[in-house]
Amino acid sequence: MISGLLLDLSGVLYIDDQAIPGASDSLSRLQNSGLAIRYVTNTTRKPANKIHQQLLELGFIINRDDLFTAPMAAHAYLKTNGLSPFKLIHPDLLEEFADFNNTQYNAVLIGDADQGFTYDNINNAFRLLIEGAPLIAMGKNRYFMQQDGLSIDAGAFVTALEYAADVEAIITGKPDCEFYRHAVHSMSTSVKSTVMIGDDVDADINGAISAGMTAILVKTGKYRDGDEDRITDPGIVCAQDFNEAVDWILDNKDIPL
Ligand SMILES: [Mg+2]
Repeated sequence: MISGLLLDLSGVLYIDDQAIPGASDSLSRLQNSGLAIRYVTNTTRKPANKIHQQLLELGFIINRDDLFTAPMAAHAYLKTNGLSPFKLIHPDLLEEFADFNNTQYNAVLIGDADQGFTYDNINNAFRLLIEGAPLIAMGKNRYFMQQDGLSIDAGAFVTALEYAADVEAIITGKPDCEFYRHAVHSMSTSVKSTVMIGDDVDADINGAISAGMTAILVKTGKYRDGDEDRITDPGIVCAQDFNEAVDWILDNKDIPL
């Protein structure tokens, strides 16, 4: 039986500033079904308030408190561990980390910094890491879909720093099991009865499977032909888009998982 759902955002509900056709009505159908829903994203180009505002503008009516972002998880991790990070992040995300204003750095925080990925910035991060500072990454995604095509994501830069400094990043977003468990816990459901819907075969689908959930891969957004062959559980459902995924959920929600 399905009791909770985790929905990825970019590539599932929208691409850039365009909603996937029919997705807003499909989300309403899900919301009216009584299933608990949380929204989980590794997007690091904008703060949570702006993501929420964009969802509302695109016609997706969701509660701000139901949004779980990788930057929010990174913020909590930094606070809990008393870290003061050098920020290799997008300028639009700086406001979400404005309370970390100490310039005596003892950590590196990395997201999709876009034009901030300069040699000097990456080298500054490397020098901190080689001295023992931890590398906190808000995701390790390979690429994401923009309207003009696939675009390289932070994962390649995280991997470059890991290689150069011989360290392993702490990932605070998907596919981190703790990130998933935190979102599931907020629904008062179990991991086993939760379904994750996403377009990223690594972070969304295989990540959810590793955390103990089932998953639906949608063939929109960053999906590429053959991604389904990389799914680690052969029983996983694929759907043409979010609308078809919602049809499957509503048809199967009372069947044991
Ligand atoms: Mg996505």
